[in-house]
Amino acid sequence: MPELPPSDASYAITARTTPQAIPDSDTTAGAAPLFATASTGLDALSTDATGAEAWAAFGAAGLLTRAYRGGEIREGVDIDGLADLLAAADTRCSIPATLSASVQLATALPLLATGTGPTVEQTLRRTLTGQATLALAATDTTAGTDLTALRTEAALDGGSVTVTGGKEWIANATTAEAFLVLARHRPGRHFTSFSWVLVPADAPGVSTRPAPSTLYAASGAGHVTFDSVRLDRAHLVGRAGLGLPLFARHITVERLAGALWGVALCRRILEATRHRLADRAHGDATLWQLSHIRQRFASCLLRVQELQALADSLGPEVARCHDTRAAATLKAAAGTTVPYVLGECAHLWGAAGFADGGIQEIRAQAALFGIGGGATEIVLEALADGADQILRKLARPAPQPEPTTDPRASV
Ligand SMILES: Cc1cc2nc3c(=O)[nH]c(=O)nc-3n(C[C@H](O)[C@H](O)[C@H](O)COP(=O)(O)OP(=O)(O)OC[C@H]3O[C@@H](n4cnc5c(N)ncnc54)[C@H](O)[C@@H]3O)c2cc1C
Repeated sequence: MPELPPSDASYAITARTTPQAIPDSDTTAGAAPLFATASTGLDALSTDATGAEAWAAFGAAGLLTRAYRGGEIREGVDIDGLADLLAAADTRCSIPATLSASVQLATALPLLATGTGPTVEQTLRRTLTGQATLALAATDTTAGTDLTALRTEAALDGGSVTVTGGKEWIANATTAEAFLVLARHRPGRHFTSFSWVLVPADAPGVSTRPAPSTLYAASGAGHVTFDSVRLDRAHLVGRAGLGLPLFARHITVERLAGALWGVALCRRILEATRHRLADRAHGDATLWQLSHIRQRFASCLLRVQELQALADSLGPEVARCHDTRAAATLKAAAGTTVPYVLGECAHLWGAAGFADGGIQEIRAQAALFGIGGGATEIVLEALADGADQILRKLARPAPQPEPTTDPRASV
């Protein structure tokens, strides 16, 4: 059994103060190579930074564009770059702060980049350099799992668009310079009834308030109201009517990001938990020597490796083709694996897990993996819809007989 470093306060898990990297640990998912050097410009980033502060630090260090192929947002996401950024954020920041970054990198910014014109370009530039944050406001006051029931309206009238309605539980809402708002420009649930509008936070008629959540305050989570916010048509992002197809396309990358981040988060918590178990005296040895605990821990290792394998095999289909079934598979896997692993680890910390800012708090925050950006039930429905195709893909071709060499055939 490998020897583990002695007990050290830096291995303690807290929600606001993340554990330090453990010496000689495997660096594949945690201390990402891109950010392993001291010169990343992130050294001054406090572990209890808010999402907006973390975003500003990553932006000022010129790191945010690494999430995209060749550093160009319109070229699509670079899986390794995105995974490195999320792992670096996870290592240095709280879950709410990493959520704040993940939503912007994976969905809000790529969606905004489907638009054109100076208004869009300026917001892209300011956000990608960390000078501003951008909120993605899809979830309405209606059930988030019933997106086409959303009520927020974008009335198109000649050269203007007027936004009226409200959005709830939006990350970055209390800090954003602008909201990318999914609104309906006509009644009904038809998929062509929705459009995206870029609404500046300081436009007359916009008001925000924090969501009633200590757990997610650092993500800037909040509610926003649009009271007849009148803007010129330059604020329409993409063509009117493309709102839902664009959302369906880009939410796939958020689902990939969730799987990549989920692996980094589980790895970090498992590592800290393993040290905790190895240091916790029990009988003549430690908790780590109890076979039931080792098997329980091994089940978590199995689950996180499954998630990593899925991300490896399906990630390219999502990044390059925005494949919705591959993305649903990743989301369903992350939405069940992360709560499972963190639930098991939290249990194994015993009473210490309930310390303020301890693993029980992280576990509660991580429950969002099964809800935000598509509840697990919704993505499982999508998998069930694709049952025949998935089963076909799993089928092996029937074995063919070896071609026989009949000597008479060559005569
Ligand atoms: C911290 C935080 C940050 C967020 N950030 C953003 C953001 O940046 N942008 C944004 O647009 N939204 C954001 N959200 C909202 C998030 O996307 C929604 O919470 C999510 O889509 C679920 O919607 P809901 O909360 O309204 O749940 P509801 O629609 O009320 O559903 C509640 C539960 O019912 C069950 N359920 C629902 N439908 C079905 C079904 N068809 N079959 C079986 N069971 C079902 C599920 O268990 C689900 O969790 C955020 C939420 C949180 C908590």
